[in-house]
Amino acid sequence: MKIRLFFSIAALLCSWAAGAQTRRTVAVPSAPSIEQLPCRPLDTLSTDDPETKIVLYTNNTWSYLRPACPLDSLPVYARHWDTSQVFAYKSIAYDDLPSAIELNLVHDLSGFHAPIVGNVVSKYGPRRRRNHNGADIPLRVGEPIYASFDGKVRYAKYNTGGFGYLVILRHPNGLETWHAHLSRINVAVNEYVKAGQVIGFGGNTGRSRGPHLHFEMRYCDQTFDPEFIVDFPTGSLKYQTFALEKSFFNIHSRASEILEEDDDDDFPLLASAEGDSTLTSEQILERIAATQQPDKPKQASLSANKSVYHTVRSGDILGRLAIKYGVSVKKICDLNGIKPTTTLRIGQKLRIR
Ligand SMILES: [Zn+2]
Repeated sequence: MKIRLFFSIAALLCSWAAGAQTRRTVAVPSAPSIEQLPCRPLDTLSTDDPETKIVLYTNNTWSYLRPACPLDSLPVYARHWDTSQVFAYKSIAYDDLPSAIELNLVHDLSGFHAPIVGNVVSKYGPRRRRNHNGADIPLRVGEPIYASFDGKVRYAKYNTGGFGYLVILRHPNGLETWHAHLSRINVAVNEYVKAGQVIGFGGNTGRSRGPHLHFEMRYCDQTFDPEFIVDFPTGSLKYQTFALEKSFFNIHSRASEILEEDDDDDFPLLASAEGDSTLTSEQILERIAATQQPDKPKQASLSANKSVYHTVRSGDILGRLAIKYGVSVKKICDLNGIKPTTTLRIGQKLRIR
């Protein structure tokens, strides 16, 4: 009995060894498919983006690990979110909008990248038959177009209304940027984008005569001149915080005219006086007053009853503005209900006269 059992076991072992021998000589069996392998996270690798990791799995696959987008919970991405139509705020009437909207353009979490750098060949403003609601910047077909700020893609498809391939981004402050006549779209709706991300490529699609980017800025569907915010020839942002006034939604409200008073070239004497430390502010005021002849159109408009406003820029202080416009600090304070010690906000609009 014991001997029979021994032989049985020996036979079993021999057949197993023979089988193993056979297996080594025949073709290697096909590897199990990825689906058959046990799948557990094995390791993580870092990427160039500190917030993004790559997870490696035991079945030789990998995936990106990104934290939930902090923008997800913002109401701006929950209300009036329409990915099929260009206008998303039809239920909000112009009259319902506040008189001014403070737009925080850049903060710690995001930056700015010009959609394209170049001269504006066709500005925002009225045209013969239809209004021109954006700024046109010529380009070469295929040139990358960048997201100006962090945001979420609200619209990304061919538009038969004339925009051609159109990408609309909505930014956390509610501002929308529109990019029209693209040759190719590089994003999908509901995707979050970072400032500086390539969202598409320039083209000549839709109602367009020659390759260019038609760039619009809108708030609650209302357009305003994007040159209020972007300096296209240098690709720089004009303000960190911008007070978007309701009056800017008027097609006749153009940045080049409203920001004109900021142009230091109108005050050549002040410019030369600034370098002369021996002049007192009174002497500078006298010099400016001497240039303000009523027969000069520019000065005539300044001295008339028309109000003059100044939009605060980085570095502006009340004293310098008073000298620049030839008025007293007290007068600016009285007109705006502020004190001489009040800190000016960039983008804040001050009445000067
Ligand atoms: Zn255009």
